Amino acid sequence: MVHVSDLSWPEYAERVARDPVVLVPCGALEQHGPHLPLGTDAILASAVSTGIAEAVGGLVLPALAYGYKSMPKSGGGAHFPGTTNLDGGTVASLVRDLIREQVRHGVRRLCFVVGHYENQWFVTEGIDLAMREVGHTGVRIMRLEYWDFIEPATIERVFPDGYPGAALEHAAVIETSLMLHYQPHHVRLDRLPDHRSADFPPYDMFPPHRHWVPSSGALTSAKAATAEKGRIMAEQFRDSIVAAVRREF
Ligand code: ZN
Ligand code: MN
Repeated sequence: MVHVSDLSWPEYAERVARDPVVLVPCGALEQHGPHLPLGTDAILASAVSTGIAEAVGGLVLPALAYGYKSMPKSGGGAHFPGTTNLDGGTVASLVRDLIREQVRHGVRRLCFVVGHYENQWFVTEGIDLAMREVGHTGVRIMRLEYWDFIEPATIERVFPDGYPGAALEHAAVIETSLMLHYQPHHVRLDRLPDHRSADFPPYDMFPPHRHWVPSSGALTSAKAATAEKGRIMAEQFRDSIVAAVRREF
């Protein structure tokens, strides 16, 4: 058992006494096209975290189910129904409080697994604020975006026609393939978006231009997604992240 929410308090105390790596999946409630659920980022960050925890004898906390504001150029933006955004300070406070509480219980190794692009700097801010409070305990904290671990050989197999980059991959081949691997019942295969990649200018506008964003909510085609590509990525991400976790801890 790796999920903290499934443990009783004596079981949790006994596990923490063995100095586990505690993984924190960081997701969002955000549109992911007409074919994927709003909870995709939390589902995938949790699935990746679970694989890591099983390999290193770690624990997984419940995912942060909400995240920093979906942006047009990386998540489609706030105008899609269901996308439910937190202010940056709220995300940072959640992360800081969660670290302080885990450290109070004796946890000394934490790993934040970010599954929502826009969370990156606010999770970092929460960790930095927490370290001012609890750094003296010797706690060490890792932070990563799982997609950054994609290796050239995997890119060749998953993106034979070229990798558009993590930001444009919103609700596209990576996330759809991983969902087909981990939770196929959650993918509406008859509604896969298949259109050209969004072509964003190198600046943002407030209020945002909705017409910059494809109406599907995906930022590039998901047509090439397959469960097999999901398996290839899931296994490679797990092996690469496990190696990094073992190296650091
Ligand atoms: Zn996503
Ligand atoms: Mn996202």
